[in-house]
Amino acid sequence: MKIDTVIIGGGITGLSVAYHLKNKNYILLEKENVVGGLCKSVTDKNGFIYDYTGHLLHIKSEYVKKLVRKLLKKNLALKTRNSWIYSNNVFTRYPFQANLFGLPKNIIYECIEGLVRAKFTTYHLPLTTCCFHDWCLKTFGGGISKYFMLPYNEKLWKINLKNLTTDWLGKYVPQPTLQEVIKGAFTDDNKKMGYNATFFYPKTGGIQSLVDELKKNTCVIKTDIKILSVDISKKIVKTNNGDIQYKNLVSTIPLPEIAKLIKGLPENVKKASRKLKWTSVLNINLGIKRKNISDKHWIYFPEKKFNFYRAGFYRNFSESLCPDGTSSMYIEISYRNRKINKEKMFKKTIGELKSAGVLKSSDKIISECILDIPYAYVIYDENRKSSLKTIQNHLRKNFIFSIGRYGGWQYSTMEDAILEGKEITKWLK
Ligand SMILES: Cc1cc2nc3c(=O)[nH]c(=O)nc-3n(C[C@H](O)[C@H](O)[C@H](O)COP(=O)(O)OP(=O)(O)OC[C@H]3O[C@@H](n4cnc5c(N)ncnc54)[C@H](O)[C@@H]3O)c2cc1C
Repeated sequence: MKIDTVIIGGGITGLSVAYHLKNKNYILLEKENVVGGLCKSVTDKNGFIYDYTGHLLHIKSEYVKKLVRKLLKKNLALKTRNSWIYSNNVFTRYPFQANLFGLPKNIIYECIEGLVRAKFTTYHLPLTTCCFHDWCLKTFGGGISKYFMLPYNEKLWKINLKNLTTDWLGKYVPQPTLQEVIKGAFTDDNKKMGYNATFFYPKTGGIQSLVDELKKNTCVIKTDIKILSVDISKKIVKTNNGDIQYKNLVSTIPLPEIAKLIKGLPENVKKASRKLKWTSVLNINLGIKRKNISDKHWIYFPEKKFNFYRAGFYRNFSESLCPDGTSSMYIEISYRNRKINKEKMFKKTIGELKSAGVLKSSDKIISECILDIPYAYVIYDENRKSSLKTIQNHLRKNFIFSIGRYGGWQYSTMEDAILEGKEITKWLK
């Protein structure tokens, strides 16, 4: 078979490419029996709908807003974030650094004193290293770093923060002024800070509703496809369903995975691919026989005594996600380079949720759904930039466009995925 553009991977990036190619000659190949990737939703036999942890639409681009509205029509709600941090036995608003209000007085003092000290000493000096650890101390001072920035990020990234760069920070880490921090220590008023102060979410059907609508507007999708190899000299994708000759290949699967599929990759590209690092996430979803277990959207847990870094409450995104009289939640546990004992982790998690007061000892869990996300967060270490360049240069030279969160090896969102999928179509001649 001869096709102009072969798209590998039917997550939101691949679907966006297909959508924007309109009636052009393409085929999208997906290994699973359904498309959607991380934007799928799972419906269990009791009627609970679970996403792959919280998948909320934080949209800045007018184009994406318009597209999402066009696709979801009336099935779209705009929500104002209600997210919190649980530490030192109290809840404080997100972002921690701007909302110390409610913490014990000695901790507020330590955080403000540390920030003032940093502002007067290190803040204006150039960083001699580009590591996240030092950046936190310089930007936020000792207290905020100690109580949130360092423990939370250690838990999420699972590497020594001296080996994490700051290239990923962008919109993700709000940097309030000293005045804002002081105001947030004395009043409960800094609610709107950060890129995700509001978000869109489908009224029904979970985040999958969005990819379902995208899919309706695409043409040729083949699921259950196993890619056997990619021959870049002959421009042929070999699959369990036959060979496809292409002009352009758009890959949205993780970079280390496409590298394994390509025949005859030069040694330096293979070496670069082996240097890429990432974290995985175990996503425990629970259905609970109690209404309104929380009024919050999600909670961050920086302290070591909790094995999870974040937990969220689906019902507060949309009532349609759980049956009447129940609640449901997702819990996110980051891990790297090891097998995780799901059963042990599950038990531990329930115990810890009870100790935090999120679950009551009388709560009855009526639904469990454990989802694994093998590629979750791309690690920005000192090798990422140069390795990525080596791999992408080689792929581009050979008409392979590797894009998306894992194809482009980046910390990006659904909005970015939609935009990248649109943008790449300009290059597909
Ligand atoms: C824990 C977590 C929380 C997140 N929360 C949010 C959020 O709140 N808001 C937000 O905007 N973004 C969020 N994201 C990011 C969002 O999930 C991604 O930006 C987006 O889903 C990436 O889509 P993608 O198509 O690039 O990748 P994927 O969704 O990974 O899609 C890749 C597709 O390729 C397929 N595939 C893999 N290997 C092969 C193969 N060999 N052959 C064929 N097909 C293959 C997969 O099955 C999958 O369908 C979150 C991510 C994580 C991990």
